Amino acid sequence: MIVDAATKTIRLILVGKEQEFAFTRTESIDIPPLSQIGLYVHIPFCRNKCLYCPYNRVAYDENLAGAYTEAVLSEIEQYLSKLGKIEVTSLYIGGGTPTTLTDELGVIIESIREKFVMSGDICVETSPGDLNEDIVRKLKEAGVNLLSIGVQSFDDTFLKILGRDYDAAQARSAAKIAVSADFRSVNMDLMFALPGQTTADVLDDLKEALRIGANQVTAYPLFTFPYSSVGRYLRTRRVKTPGIFRLRKMYREIHDFLIQNGYERVSVWGFRKGDSPRYSSVTRDIYVGIGAGAGSRLPAVFYLNTFSVDDYIAVASSGRLPIALAMDMTPELMKYYWLYWRFYETYIDSRQLRERFGNDVKLKVMLGLARLLGLTREDRNQIELTERGAFYIHLLQNYFILNYIDRVWSAAMKEPWPDRIEI
Ligand code: SF4
Repeated sequence: MIVDAATKTIRLILVGKEQEFAFTRTESIDIPPLSQIGLYVHIPFCRNKCLYCPYNRVAYDENLAGAYTEAVLSEIEQYLSKLGKIEVTSLYIGGGTPTTLTDELGVIIESIREKFVMSGDICVETSPGDLNEDIVRKLKEAGVNLLSIGVQSFDDTFLKILGRDYDAAQARSAAKIAVSADFRSVNMDLMFALPGQTTADVLDDLKEALRIGANQVTAYPLFTFPYSSVGRYLRTRRVKTPGIFRLRKMYREIHDFLIQNGYERVSVWGFRKGDSPRYSSVTRDIYVGIGAGAGSRLPAVFYLNTFSVDDYIAVASSGRLPIALAMDMTPELMKYYWLYWRFYETYIDSRQLRERFGNDVKLKVMLGLARLLGLTREDRNQIELTERGAFYIHLLQNYFILNYIDRVWSAAMKEPWPDRIEI
């Protein structure tokens, strides 16, 4: 209730009354001329159904997987006819577990290469339970150069608590296979703030990821997931996650440990070593999402495909875009959307900020306040998020952004074509 009232007040102050905070039923979108775009492809299949999982995923089924791949290829074709052969600056394949369809990923990537001008990296998510030398070889042959493994922990106790379908030995072996395959970057996701987990346990997991050779580590707390999924999960397990002060302490220790070991912070949760590319699924500005439940962000609109895998297959295969919901964005909202994601990446280029927003007084006051509170520091070229700032951006994400995502995802997972979802 308090979060709702605070959200409404902040929204009113920042973006005014003009912005409607609701997704409404939409069948088609006017796509303006664009010269480049990021692409996201969602593969919703998993061999294991993790208890806490909030993502749009279904159990792997060979027949469904074949029909789904055809639908994805059809959706790509439809975007080609709307966008033309423009530049694709990055391709991110997430899920679910995309490597459940390793052979099909090769076909999908090939189709995107043929239809667009691929200039950026190709990133794929995977899970230790679904990775072996054969899969890694196929991914490399398909041109994948960034791999992200959802390790979550190298400790059997926590893997059991999370209901993952592999043990610590398999997690180590999969991570080693990935690292030795010479991708441009291997990211390992590790979770913290797990029930019963101490800071020493978290540091042990980080040490193991570093020892194996992760180019990037993304460490995020369990409660980053939308409330309903975590709430359901915690009720099932009858456990509590750490309170905010312990979480703050854990985050600081993770941050300091990784910095001391030569990693630099590249997003609120992500730390990379050396000059390997930054690996992030969420910070692209303009992108099109393909697949069931995929979101797209065009200049003035955010829209979502139907979450139902069956409905997605039926509509996309019949030559129509499977768009279910859209929310128009006013210039004010676009401004804060852009700022949020730049801060999520932990810095803002001062020249870009000036070019985009000129002498925006409200923005100047906000940024001045952030500096006074020690959330940012500035030099001539950039505004950088401090360690404290990164932690509070994370809180903001939990209490506001994930609250929105939770509402939309929960409703869209229940009903394939909802009329309206208020956020
Ligand atoms: S592997 Fe990932 S997407 Fe699949 S059920 Fe587990 S958490 Fe969800």
